[in-house]
Amino acid sequence: MAKTEECVQVIVRCRPLNQKETEQCHEQCVRLLTQEGVVEIRHPKIGPTDPPKTFTFDAVYDCNSKQADIYEESFANLVDCVLNGFNGTIFAYGQTGTGKTFTMEGIRGDADLRGVIPRSFEHIFTHISASSDEQYLVRASYLEIYQEEIRDLLSKDQSQRLELKERPDTGIYVKDLSSFVCKGQSEIEHVMNVGNQNRKVGPTNMNEHSSRSHAIFIITVECSKPNEKTGKPNIRAGKLNLVDLAGSERQAKTGATGERLKEATKINLSLSALGNVISALVDGKSTHVPYRDSKLTRLLQDSLGGNAKTVMVANIGPAGYNYEESLTTLRYSNRAK
Ligand code: ADP
Ligand code: MG
Repeated sequence: MAKTEECVQVIVRCRPLNQKETEQCHEQCVRLLTQEGVVEIRHPKIGPTDPPKTFTFDAVYDCNSKQADIYEESFANLVDCVLNGFNGTIFAYGQTGTGKTFTMEGIRGDADLRGVIPRSFEHIFTHISASSDEQYLVRASYLEIYQEEIRDLLSKDQSQRLELKERPDTGIYVKDLSSFVCKGQSEIEHVMNVGNQNRKVGPTNMNEHSSRSHAIFIITVECSKPNEKTGKPNIRAGKLNLVDLAGSERQAKTGATGERLKEATKINLSLSALGNVISALVDGKSTHVPYRDSKLTRLLQDSLGGNAKTVMVANIGPAGYNYEESLTTLRYSNRAK
């Protein structure tokens, strides 16, 4: 069970062996001790008596974990904070094919397999229908960062690139980013579907593109409640950022040149900038949090640190051939702790 008091939590989720890996009898190199919050990883070539490498996290989820349980244990509290006027960010980090999108969106049309994003929609609108004296306004935006360029996934003109701007009063914002008022679950689901459709018509094919770009679904919740004495409305606003990160695999494999190399360098840069920001926040003693090093961290500046809550999910695969990438993911997210 994840602790709730810390502002940054890191949890690990390991997907099951897939059909191909099972058919080919791949060995598992990862063991999750769910009670202890520990992940053990063993190089496929080391002997059975050699000690594995171990890492401890706020919570770890094995291949049998249920979407509903992860939501209740590790994400619901953050969404409650957003409903109470705080900012929050959920990241899915990991190598392509380890379950980032499964964790964030889940499988459409299967209620049990819905991911964090649709569950947070339900959570928010259930809360709103149950409240009596509060007025809520929910808005949604959806953007993508690809090669350090921001694209509005809800805009009619998908060739447009947006800029990050800063205002002294409200801080960093994306200029001209569209946002849609959503009155209920089906409306906000529609907004998400429109954005996902636009993501598909990106410059490269869907799989390649989604593994190289960060997708950020942003929900703002404004609540107005009349003051008991004066009757004047008190307004509070929270923001929830749901982030499906670019794949963390080493992109700059030998031989990458030109555009590919440039692209790879940018992805590595923004993921390492994110790691640096989170580890500076967790450390607590750092006087400098390097938000400015990437678009991703600048954009999320007001939702990382301070009063904001963050949960990072590190997704890994269990098979031996994923050893190096899984180890890199565990080290990255452990450092974030
Ligand atoms: P990523 O977004 O990290 O590239 P995906 O979410 O697309 O990875 O997952 C890759 C495949 O593995 C998909 O077919 C997905 O449905 C499946 N998968 C991932 N995690 C799980 C899980 N925990 N349980 C069952 N299937 C999973
Ligand atoms: Mg994905």
